[in-house]
Amino acid sequence: MRRTFTILLLCGAALVPVAGAAPHKTRNVIFVMTDGYRWQELFHGADAALMNKEHGGIENPEPLKKQFWTADAQERRKLLMPFTWTEIAAHGQIYGDRDHGSEAHVTNGLNFSYPGYSEALCGFPDPRVNSNDKIPNPNQTMMEWLNSKPAFHNRMAAFGAWDVFPYIFNARRSGLLVNAGWDAFEGSGPKFQLLNEMKHDGPRIWDDEPFDAIPFYTALEYLRQRRPRVMYLSLGETDDWAHGGRYDEYLLAAHRVDAYLKALWDAFESMPDYRNQTTLVVATDHGRGEGDETWKSHGEKLPESKYVWMMYLGPDTPPLGVRSSIPAVTQSQIAATIAALLGEDYHSAVPKSGAPIADVLRQ
Ligand SMILES: [Zn+2]
Repeated sequence: MRRTFTILLLCGAALVPVAGAAPHKTRNVIFVMTDGYRWQELFHGADAALMNKEHGGIENPEPLKKQFWTADAQERRKLLMPFTWTEIAAHGQIYGDRDHGSEAHVTNGLNFSYPGYSEALCGFPDPRVNSNDKIPNPNQTMMEWLNSKPAFHNRMAAFGAWDVFPYIFNARRSGLLVNAGWDAFEGSGPKFQLLNEMKHDGPRIWDDEPFDAIPFYTALEYLRQRRPRVMYLSLGETDDWAHGGRYDEYLLAAHRVDAYLKALWDAFESMPDYRNQTTLVVATDHGRGEGDETWKSHGEKLPESKYVWMMYLGPDTPPLGVRSSIPAVTQSQIAATIAALLGEDYHSAVPKSGAPIADVLRQ
């Protein structure tokens, strides 16, 4: 009886014409960020000027050139990020190709990590957010805002390589599940146990984060077991290796990020509650310098490090591919765009946030 009633109600709703509105399909969003990955490598692939000992810290560049070098830039970028340049470029949208009149930039003026993550997640810059120190974020992230709604409450999680994420999400105040840095993940099952053991035993090349594989596989297992509606994943190796002047490891890290995006997408396809109802959003927190030495760094003193990129792939995003000749988009628009994909109006609730990017949402 109850079932019949529900079906009638649904049919009734479907018959009511809604002006200009197409059915909204996104029920889940997975938002991946990779730290300080340049638009230059995303759109051009490997840079010949850096595949050497002098500028890229590479003892033997030949195997790397064999893997990632070809003269044609469009082929070259595909060698580096094959999933991005086959699937996302064909079925989604990519912003930030400055060679073709598509610019994406941060608005925080600082061009480093915490302000960038906070801008992307809260939807606006804040002059108080001006360091990478472990200071609880004074602002709510869009995820904290969503978590207050019954449809999303306790249906979200954040995984980060970087140990500052519990502060960026203000986990203590927001109550969001945040696992980052060297902290073990409190989950059950043999996969989580092995990941925690590897995290515990792994060499601490960087004192503030493990290798990306640890948070990635932890997030993937969480996705499979717990079915979050919004999951955030931040990877850090692209920034760490660049600061260390290792262009070979920087490229290999980016190549793995692309493989992780494919693994996530394949996971959605295999789960009925994710297939055709999940949008993948990918972005970076800041750019880097563009010189032979300044590629290693970023920040206020390198104005070109404000340039970023972003990508969207999902059932509500028209397949416009690599965007060109369009107005600039900003990092501050990501939060409201993600909320809008989920049918929620963050921009009205937080007017200082950047507006949703209209082209990402099916008209
Ligand atoms: Zn960063």
